[in-house]
Amino acid sequence: MSLKQPIYFDYAATTPVDPAVAKSMSACLTLDGNFANPASRSHLFGWKAEEAVEHARAELAGLINADPREIVWTSGATEASNLALKGLVEKKALQGAHIITSSIEHKSVLDVCAELEALGCEVSYVSPECDGRVSIDTIKAAQRENTALVSLMHANNETGALNDIAELGAWTREQGIFLHVDAAQSVAKIDVDVKALNIDLMSISAHKMYGPKGQGALYVRRCPELELSAQMHGGGHERGMRSGTLATHQIVGMGKAAELARARLPSEKQRLQGLREELFEGLEGCEGISHNGSFEHSVPGIVNLCFKGVEGEVLLLSLRELAVSSGSACMSATMAPSYVLAAMGLSEADALSSIRLSFGRFTRLDDIKQAVAVLRRVYSSLAA
Ligand SMILES: *Cc1c(COP(=O)(O)O)cnc(C)c1O
Repeated sequence: MSLKQPIYFDYAATTPVDPAVAKSMSACLTLDGNFANPASRSHLFGWKAEEAVEHARAELAGLINADPREIVWTSGATEASNLALKGLVEKKALQGAHIITSSIEHKSVLDVCAELEALGCEVSYVSPECDGRVSIDTIKAAQRENTALVSLMHANNETGALNDIAELGAWTREQGIFLHVDAAQSVAKIDVDVKALNIDLMSISAHKMYGPKGQGALYVRRCPELELSAQMHGGGHERGMRSGTLATHQIVGMGKAAELARARLPSEKQRLQGLREELFEGLEGCEGISHNGSFEHSVPGIVNLCFKGVEGEVLLLSLRELAVSSGSACMSATMAPSYVLAAMGLSEADALSSIRLSFGRFTRLDDIKQAVAVLRRVYSSLAA
């Protein structure tokens, strides 16, 4: 007898690789495939690998309305944000400058900001509103004479709440302030147009969009050209910004993932919004279950719910049939309340009683119906 497999509701932690992506990657590994070093200039194998990498670059650029030359391959969004923030501060000698970010950024931005503070930067961490969105007015209010850079995430990974990057980008561009956006949770889910949003630097992760873990990209604006100091030195790959042999199979996988996302985005966004509505309708009447986040301004696949009065650990144990997450994945080893929910004004108890359900491409209506049944049953038994 085997245990019944739980239903996967943790797409915000990572997505499964799409079968078409896996297939494109497998074709780039073995001798009969496209395995060569894309930097090998002296033979056909190398040229073919380079062509595949450049094709992927164009696919990813197309998804975000960038020029392919504005894409720098990295190992993930974490590395992309490290390169963006440290590389900019170093290149532009911003060690004494002021940076504005939010208190609900992913650790890959918060920890880099702490590092920049140690180098002499001043950093302001603005708080979100109670719906998990950061008001652009609070960012404007934090401006100082020496503010040189704003780093704000597009969609929050715990609540799905979306920040108004269009309003922010119009302002930073007008003020001559650099704008970095962590878009790991928004690219491929909603339209992201780097030009329309006036973004200078943007971090993207492949494994949040049905591509492989260990691959990402940094968008680096070209007009006018923005230069960054490399954080990884070596052969001068990626226009000197990020050395290291390009991982052909990983990059091809991310390119394929971008191609699929672009073709499916409008219909998939609508389908996921429908699933979310089904979930909320199914939970109607459960007085003790409340939604943490913004219903209107949110990516459709992330729902954060508070089960008032129910202890988090008990809740997770009771929800074994659903693979959900309490707070963010990095936090769930310890039972510390999520810093994102705390910043939104939730009490420690409410933050500990909250879970994140995130769903995506392979989630079916029936999965949502089963989730509703489990959540209702668990709630009524635990709250009784
Ligand atoms: C997953 C995630 C990251 C980190 O991406 P990696 O590719 O795993 O390094 C950064 N920011 C947000 C918002 C994320 O959800």
